[in-house]
Amino acid sequence: MYDFACEHCDGTVRTRVVEREALRHKGNFVILEDVPIGVCDKCGSRYFDASVLRRVAEIGRGNVPSQRTIEIPVDRYAHA
Ligand SMILES: [Zn+2]
Repeated sequence: MYDFACEHCDGTVRTRVVEREALRHKGNFVILEDVPIGVCDKCGSRYFDASVLRRVAEIGRGNVPSQRTIEIPVDRYAHA
């Protein structure tokens, strides 16, 4: 799906299926599971196929219902 030259270095972007990836949609996040992303084999830059971004946008806009919703804790950074 990926297999192209990295934009940031001379590495190659390879397909990796990740268990969970949080993707941004208009300041919020949509989490996709078992999603194929592109990862540069040299610098680790991540790339997302148009089909992945389309899916995130559809769910983010509410056009497609998500399988489930999870709660994510949010807090401000406080130096311990
Ligand atoms: Zn790279």
